[in-house]
Amino acid sequence: MVWWPRGPPDGGDNESRESSIMAKQRVIVVGGGLGGLWATLRIVENGYDVDLFSLFPVKRSHSCCAQGGINAVLDVKGQHDSIAQHIVDTIKGGDYLADQPPIRTLCEEAPGLIRTFDRMGVTFSRTPEGILDQRLFGGVKNRRTCFAGATTGQQLLYAVDEQVRAHEVAGKVTKYELWDFLSLVKDEEGVCRGVTAMDLRTMQVRAFRGDAVVLATGGLALTYGRSTMSSNSTGAPASRVYQQGAKFANGEFIQFHPTGIPGHDKNRLMSEACRGEGGRIWVPQKAGEARDPMTIPEEERFYFLEEWYPAYGNTVPRDVASRAICRAVRHMGLGIGGKDMVYLDLTHQPREFLETRLGGILEMYRTFVGEDPCERPMRIFPATHYSMGGLWVGFEKDEQTGGMARVHPKNHATTIPGLYACGECDFAYHGANRLGANSLLSASFSGRVAGDAAVAYIKNLKRSCDQTPEASYEGERKRQEGLNTAITARDSGENAFALHRETGDLMRGHVFVERSNEGLDAALEGLGKLKERAQQIALDDRGDWSNQSLSWARQVQDMIVLAEVITKCARERDECRGSHFKAEFELKIPEGKFEGDPEYEEYKAQWAANNKKWLKHTVVTHTEAGPTIEYWPVDTSVLLPEKPRDYR
Ligand SMILES: Cc1cc2nc3c(=O)[nH]c(=O)nc-3n(C[C@H](O)[C@H](O)[C@H](O)COP(=O)(O)OP(=O)(O)OC[C@H]3O[C@@H](n4cnc5c(N)ncnc54)[C@H](O)[C@@H]3O)c2cc1C
Repeated sequence: MVWWPRGPPDGGDNESRESSIMAKQRVIVVGGGLGGLWATLRIVENGYDVDLFSLFPVKRSHSCCAQGGINAVLDVKGQHDSIAQHIVDTIKGGDYLADQPPIRTLCEEAPGLIRTFDRMGVTFSRTPEGILDQRLFGGVKNRRTCFAGATTGQQLLYAVDEQVRAHEVAGKVTKYELWDFLSLVKDEEGVCRGVTAMDLRTMQVRAFRGDAVVLATGGLALTYGRSTMSSNSTGAPASRVYQQGAKFANGEFIQFHPTGIPGHDKNRLMSEACRGEGGRIWVPQKAGEARDPMTIPEEERFYFLEEWYPAYGNTVPRDVASRAICRAVRHMGLGIGGKDMVYLDLTHQPREFLETRLGGILEMYRTFVGEDPCERPMRIFPATHYSMGGLWVGFEKDEQTGGMARVHPKNHATTIPGLYACGECDFAYHGANRLGANSLLSASFSGRVAGDAAVAYIKNLKRSCDQTPEASYEGERKRQEGLNTAITARDSGENAFALHRETGDLMRGHVFVERSNEGLDAALEGLGKLKERAQQIALDDRGDWSNQSLSWARQVQDMIVLAEVITKCARERDECRGSHFKAEFELKIPEGKFEGDPEYEEYKAQWAANNKKWLKHTVVTHTEAGPTIEYWPVDTSVLLPEKPRDYR
């Protein structure tokens, strides 16, 4: 039976409600991070009720962990920063692989978004004069990042949550926290008409009606086992809708953040803000150097980012920095103590300055490593951090402005009618590499856009979900229960935690910063076997109350499906672009040569020829036999790809 969350409006029982026509349409939002909360807010402000689902209490959504800041051109530092420059930096940062009209609108609306956050009460850091402060982040030359100390995500998330709570109190939003989204309910025409979800306390699976569904379920970095992300960032919801027919795009573009703190349980992040506030990355010049870093004199240190990229130095974009670290460590053998580690040094900055600007994360380093970053350089290495790829979403171009139409049902629509996606689980905005502090921006902005689009969509619906036959809901609910029972009924079999560890090991081993076709083939073979084994998962806990291992087992199955997508996309893309790097296809910038030099011009011509072949979105469709790939064009109508990225 379909579950009517707030009880039937006519006061009758659920059965009688099912036959009546709904007085009001409703939208389901899955995910309560910045993307989901913003979408919720927009839908409610447009007069529609929202059922909001989240695996965790929404205040624990991963957005809460974001540290360094959010980008918007306010030009408070007298650097003549401009929105045009923000657009160019974002497009180039992503190696031209994102559709440009949405980027244009994203950057144009960023300052207004910051002012809205400010009015909501976000405690942005300010200058002594009371002006919003801005710091430097990677891949840009201007100070463009607004921040709230080093806990920016938490301040933003709590501010939007507070707004949503007001609507919750007014009965417009119903929150389903600790519910696991399992699948979409589609009608006989393939239109999305609701969801199924599992209550993580009672383990009951229920179907919910909705006229549109907005998926805002965040990133997928847990497919790599250890990452900087939270444990809700499995990508399982995106995998589930992909397996139900939504196309997935640009899966191969995974961001490896250069300054992760390696950990045996998970990797933690030292924000790019460290480098924005003057942090320097270095290794000892001598391989195997055993001295205490504080005793190694300046002239015996190798500040490789500053040497290789003098124009940007330590604030080169993340893909460039991560590769440089791998080069210093794995190719030149200069890792600290011969290990996968380099120094991130803040010790030259005054303690008071560091505590004010970066207090939250310095505390984290002290807690997990046991050393004080104000006294000793930190030890860091690239860690899986973010997914530029995600569910394919469309947009409507505004021909007059060249940006995205303000409100349109095509914006952020997936390939399943009635399903929208926003935030990190979509593929828009960041192309082949995301610039730091652009994600809190895109999650918030895309949430607003998707919320508006879902409303525009349901306004034009000819049939409401009330008229979808009960059988569609009941059939899908039973299918999901069947998948659960297949796991809980098994007496012995594979261990979900071990499968996850093995998946992570494969992904970090072969689908990391540097990739090769040989390694990717090996990964695909391994993932094929893991996928089969995942169908044989058995649980120690087979109870029907608060059984976390059942939910986890389901997520592991779906993570392996996504891992295969990522790997297959990487295998097929024979080039280097942004975070995707295969040495065998590298077009090297001729050393010491710049525009005008014949060698550089020759390189530029090769780069342009390569773009003709590869400047395309990888678009993946699920089939029982595995992912199938096609390539779709990229809208480069704002900035033609005429110049290669060059951060030297
Ligand atoms: C350590 C760290 C620091 C970062 N710092 C910055 C920064 O300074 N600036 C910046 O711009 N970006 C930063 N990022 C990136 C940024 O935080 C994220 O990309 C962004 O917050 C994602 O927001 P979201 O709304 O898409 O998803 P999330 O905030 O991850 O929310 C996802 C939601 O989906 C729900 N969900 C997941 N699975 C299910 C399921 N099965 N069923 C129901 N609900 C589900 C979760 O409960 C959650 O509510 C950082 C990332 C990391 C890892």
